[in-house]
Amino acid sequence: MCGIVGYVGEEQATPVLLNALKKLEYRGYDSAGIAVLDSGRLTVRKAKGRLRVLEEKIATEVIRGHIGIGHTRWATHGEPSDVNSHPQTDVSGKIAVVHNGIIENYAKLKAWLESNGVEFRSETDTEVIAHLVNFNYNGDLLAAVIETIKKLEGSYAIGVICGNEPDRIVAARKDSPLVIGKGVHENLLASDVPALLEYTQDVYYLDDREIAVLYADRTEFYDDYGARREKQSVRVEWDISAAEKNGFEHFMRKEIHEQPAALANTLRTRIKTYAAKSINLEEIGFSPDWAKAGRVVITACGTAWHAGVVGKYVFEHFARVPVDVDIASEYRYREPILNPHDIFIIISQSGETADTLAAMRMAKTAGAKILAITNVVGSTLAREADLVMYTRAGPEIAVASTKAFTTQLVCLYLLAFQFGLLRGTISPERLETLIRELESLPDKAREILREESGIQRFAARQFNKDKVFFMGRLFDYAISLESALKLKEISYAHSEAFAAGELKHGPIALVDKGTLVVALCTQSALFDKMESNIKQVKARGASVLVLTYRDEERFNGSADAIFRIPRVPDELTPVLSVIPCQLFAYYCAIQRGHDPDKPRNLAKSVTVE
Ligand code: GLU
Repeated sequence: MCGIVGYVGEEQATPVLLNALKKLEYRGYDSAGIAVLDSGRLTVRKAKGRLRVLEEKIATEVIRGHIGIGHTRWATHGEPSDVNSHPQTDVSGKIAVVHNGIIENYAKLKAWLESNGVEFRSETDTEVIAHLVNFNYNGDLLAAVIETIKKLEGSYAIGVICGNEPDRIVAARKDSPLVIGKGVHENLLASDVPALLEYTQDVYYLDDREIAVLYADRTEFYDDYGARREKQSVRVEWDISAAEKNGFEHFMRKEIHEQPAALANTLRTRIKTYAAKSINLEEIGFSPDWAKAGRVVITACGTAWHAGVVGKYVFEHFARVPVDVDIASEYRYREPILNPHDIFIIISQSGETADTLAAMRMAKTAGAKILAITNVVGSTLAREADLVMYTRAGPEIAVASTKAFTTQLVCLYLLAFQFGLLRGTISPERLETLIRELESLPDKAREILREESGIQRFAARQFNKDKVFFMGRLFDYAISLESALKLKEISYAHSEAFAAGELKHGPIALVDKGTLVVALCTQSALFDKMESNIKQVKARGASVLVLTYRDEERFNGSADAIFRIPRVPDELTPVLSVIPCQLFAYYCAIQRGHDPDKPRNLAKSVTVE
């Protein structure tokens, strides 16, 4: 998510750290900081906002020292602020930590540390690491870090320095990336290769549960029991632009591929696994009262609105609660009828979407309870809502939203299941089965991504179609909406979605030889209906692509091509079925010669009307 850097060597650390952090800016961040050691004295400087703000803050001082760590933060726990920025330090002020990831059991660790007299200064999960390292410190930083990571649950990439050991940085990782750069009389640490390329092309990729100790003249590697390991460096041939995208040509494709990890992050901490599996929404402050809602109103724009359409079907199906889904720009100018038992779910990737914020404020003024789903901690939406559920997709750089969408869906599933349990429409046993299905989504998403080349080949044949229709029923209709939007956003092909049942009510007039129809077929009870819709468009000369389950034979022979996805309950398919459609849009854009990361006329976050 964020960026970590570290430096130990002959140069002054501060300029190297700032320069390396700049190379990680593309990853997105909300605050930045550095910690530098000079003869055992630790200087920490941090600031909310861009790196420039940090640079201005330290412009008048000289921070000396040949060893240091730096961080750009993408907040998950505690809003962006100076004090919540990293590095985080321990009570003695000797130990500084930068961290990327989420410590799932931080509340428990914090309570324990507090009962031992530790006073916390920030709201971050990271601060527990600094205090634990201090607690475990007996003159050996490596041993203290090893003891500390034994206690951590969740994901982390960390860099730790200590005033008593001014010659080394200890780094460790689990489920968050970390790379070590091997220089001459210097060694570097970073969460991604671009930060290192100016200094070296020889890198070590740290493995999960591996620990690195960086000195100016060498790096040592250990397993999490403290046993020494040998490791080979790898020479990176990427240029800086390829490195920023982790070897992918575009951010969009990188982000599509990040979905398995993003989905796992969204689920993290939200599922209790002791005894029976259940959903844990305590951290967002969700109380059973919320599930007594007389009606749920979901309001959003664009892709987030499509997530809302899925949300409507999910809530109705699992929680049997009436749901209205509204486009925020319509909602704010209508005369909506609100009643005190309504709850509002407001969805926005950035949390800054102007129309969405306006709709939220209207509902709030009318006394409604607001639950926000957003990707950005501390965003306006997050600050003004009563409850916030973060998607934890990590920064999304490409304008066309992909991983933010699928993680929004997972949030909606978690909420709807919890509503269902509390309203008695889902039994605890059914809930367990559903949770297992949710937990299988990251792996199943990975399986789809492995079959990317099939989609690429199909796009190579169909990219120049000027009319593309996506059709489906129920959940497939919602994903048709999103898929058509994705394709038009980045390939500029004219694409529309319609509920397949509407075919004869108008859209069929447009279907002819030059049309591509993508038929989403994952709603088993409606396969007959979809089959006849497919026949109708084929009879008018359209090329048809069917998207269905891997083990579903029903549509064999009825289409020009078939994309297949792993089986999940029909109500959960949206998280998976959208992925081939994202890839299709991506490859059509490439074939048509457009940059999918920067579609014409579009902005990532629509902060104006
Ligand atoms: N969870 C940590 C925080 O909120 C680290 C976030 C990050 O990866 O930037 O401070």
